[in-house]
Amino acid sequence: MADETVEKTEDTAGAGEEITETAASEAEAVPVASEAEAAPAVREAVAITPDVGFVKELISSGGADLKKCYQCATCSVACNLTPDASPFPRKEMMWAQWGLKDKLMGNPDIWLCHQCNDCTAQCPRGAKPGTVMNAVAKMTISRFSKPGFLTKGVGNPSALILMMALPIAILAVAIGIFGSYSPTRGEMVDGKLQHAGDIVYGQFLGHWPIVGVFTSFFVLSIIVFALGIRSYWGALKAHAADEGQPIAGSGFGKLGPVIGEIFTHKRFGKCDETEDRKTSHMFIFYAFGLLFLATIVSTLLTDGPLLWGGEGVLSPYPTISVVKLFAYPGAAAGLIGIGLITINRFKHQEKLGGLGSYFDWLLISVIIVLMVTGIGSVAFRLANIGALAFPTYFVHLSAVLFLFIYAPFSKMAHMVYRTVALTFARVSGRDLGVD
Ligand code: SF4
Ligand code: SF4
Repeated sequence: MADETVEKTEDTAGAGEEITETAASEAEAVPVASEAEAAPAVREAVAITPDVGFVKELISSGGADLKKCYQCATCSVACNLTPDASPFPRKEMMWAQWGLKDKLMGNPDIWLCHQCNDCTAQCPRGAKPGTVMNAVAKMTISRFSKPGFLTKGVGNPSALILMMALPIAILAVAIGIFGSYSPTRGEMVDGKLQHAGDIVYGQFLGHWPIVGVFTSFFVLSIIVFALGIRSYWGALKAHAADEGQPIAGSGFGKLGPVIGEIFTHKRFGKCDETEDRKTSHMFIFYAFGLLFLATIVSTLLTDGPLLWGGEGVLSPYPTISVVKLFAYPGAAAGLIGIGLITINRFKHQEKLGGLGSYFDWLLISVIIVLMVTGIGSVAFRLANIGALAFPTYFVHLSAVLFLFIYAPFSKMAHMVYRTVALTFARVSGRDLGVD
């Protein structure tokens, strides 16, 4: 049976067989023993519904050691990011053990956690609270980014081939219909041969088919995110109301400071055990920013002049050009960042009890492929080696499309849900930012 409704009584709070919400709330504070003595007969008992299926899913999603937790609170003391009132991650460990899904997923603290794992390094029971927080975050993505089975697919190594097949098949069909698998060198522009003898990726798959395919999936991802944000915000509000803190307003007014905090990565700077994550994460963050700008500039150069009847500039762009001004530093930052992230994972694995989840590694791997093939595509094109250039470019496009399609269902989604949670934390007064 997936769900078990458990009648809450004050007498059984410590028995481990029946659960009371009174006990749950009181156990959030430290020390437990003194509160347990003071608690009886103060609050009214209410029935709650532990979700056993949820606990099983959480365990299989990375929280395998959560049942080792014996509520000592070392983790909450070790965490530099938690607010002092109702600190995390101890209460989340208890909610996870009891399968209190709605409390966990309507709780912005899941995303206030930045996975620095100071708690995991100090947990005397090896319960890996940082890993449990990460697993809950993944399940939050699965719940709010619809359809949820795509998050399960992205998080399942057995489904990798299937997940990869989708972007590869879409591109293969697009090339078959709109491009060419044996492109000629150079290109004809207004009846004149340009780039004679050179590799021109536009001959493989032209500008407009690329714009059509990638824009379609980009817009689809934005829609999925928008719907996810709406229902996640609702869940956060419902949880706050349950806790006696009803929240009004949309939170837009608090978005500015949150974005400022994200750009400076201030919270990462408070981690002890893995403080080097701040640097590597910032490299990746700004790499994506620069590459996004390169894409925008490229689109403006190509399509902008068409608006007033002029001629757009088609790629390949000269080695020294405004597009490359963003693209080269972006690629370099991406390579450095993803290299540092990989090194850090191995460097800290003993302290953190492992290398991390498949869900995390999938994104790391896709970014590695994206960066290496992006640089390889340029290098092979400049070296005029078509046998390597076109396959490398195809893998590059597939990796980009993979990110676009699965952004709301993969680790990429943490950017969006964390931003929402940080905003909500400010609106609710739970967390007003870091110094
Ligand atoms: S997760 Fe570890 S440190 Fe935290 S309360 Fe449980 S046993 Fe203690
Ligand atoms: S992983 Fe880091 S931020 Fe998250 S609860 Fe543990 S110590 Fe705090």
